[in-house]
Amino acid sequence: MRVSFLGGIGEVGRAAVLVETRDARILLDYGVKPSEPEPLFPGHISPKDLDAVVITHAHLDHSGAAPLLMLNGGVKVYATDMTFKLSDILLRDFLKLSGYYIPYEVLEVEELLRRGIRVNYGDTVKVKDAEITFLDAGHIPGSIQVLVNADKTLLYTGDYSTRKTRLLSGAKNMPRDVDAVVTEATYALTEHPRRMDLERDFVNDVIELIDLGGRVLVPAFAVARSQEMMCILEAYGVRESVYLDGMAVKILDLFLESKEFVQGYQLLYSASKHVMRVNDRKKRKRAAESPGVIISPAGMLKGGPAAYYLERIFDDPYSGIFLVSFQVPGTPGARLLEEGKITVRGEDVEVKARVKQFLFSAHSGRSELRSYLGSLSPGTKVFTIHGEPEACRDLADYARNELSLDAVLPEKHHKYEI
Ligand SMILES: [Zn+2]
Repeated sequence: MRVSFLGGIGEVGRAAVLVETRDARILLDYGVKPSEPEPLFPGHISPKDLDAVVITHAHLDHSGAAPLLMLNGGVKVYATDMTFKLSDILLRDFLKLSGYYIPYEVLEVEELLRRGIRVNYGDTVKVKDAEITFLDAGHIPGSIQVLVNADKTLLYTGDYSTRKTRLLSGAKNMPRDVDAVVTEATYALTEHPRRMDLERDFVNDVIELIDLGGRVLVPAFAVARSQEMMCILEAYGVRESVYLDGMAVKILDLFLESKEFVQGYQLLYSASKHVMRVNDRKKRKRAAESPGVIISPAGMLKGGPAAYYLERIFDDPYSGIFLVSFQVPGTPGARLLEEGKITVRGEDVEVKARVKQFLFSAHSGRSELRSYLGSLSPGTKVFTIHGEPEACRDLADYARNELSLDAVLPEKHHKYEI
């Protein structure tokens, strides 16, 4: 068995892992990297040179280049039903926002949805001499890890989290008896705060501002984070005046139709009965003007209806802007945290509303990444990808020096024998 990497080395983005067995060539993920002015694509590979493609989850850094594989007759693409449905929404949005720079069209997106092969957690499929098994990754609804078994066995973790959240149970019983692991390293340098502490702090701060008559804008990713924030508020009894806006509404409805992919379904269902869906201008105006919580994309304040609310909230000291994820440097969210400023209609303004950050994450943190690698037998091959160079290096060094694993920081296009 051999493994090589067409992207995702020393960067968060354009994941693309090629596994070759004696007879089969299998591509795991084919993502893009968001970048200005144009997104970056992984190395080229032709669908006719592949026997199968697996998409671990719908985030564009894992799926954004997959429609390219539908050209020239295409190839078999495996993912969960949830991943295909979420990808449909995200890929169409991606085309709408950056279509000019994207080398495929909506036809290829439709083809991916039409021809995609739906798999469930625990399923195994045979592709020539390889068996491919799909395991729950606990990252977002529908996310999987991929176990490839032929003469050797390789686990590709994709993005994963072993922690329980309000929506998901987390990845459980990850395979230990493998010859090689390709692991993500996004937060190899970061210890995540305790989830319960984070939730409690968030809710206490929300309640404090609502009691003052303020409005709390929670810019959140449309997929999973927005719905998770709804669930947290529901769990703590904050049920009145919670608004949900933008693509997050559509994705909530998708989650509600797909019980098997949301382990916290009951809580989500209760929360959905209380949340107010914003689907027209009148409701948006009311949400922006009345005390309460507004959950709205974009998570880093780059576009989406959050921008509308921001303009109406920024100069009110009794209101708040609560960021609920890491903010990528260079985004408006990162600038708000660093300088306390935003741009409103082309002008830089000071923000008077209370600004806070709560570091919720859908990835494993440093301890979780290390703990899984610690369960492997000495000598197991480990490849650290999908992280900044320092993070990938740190995890590989730890695996090699502390755990006696055969860990490397892979190089692009180099083929590694397993
Ligand atoms: Zn992801």
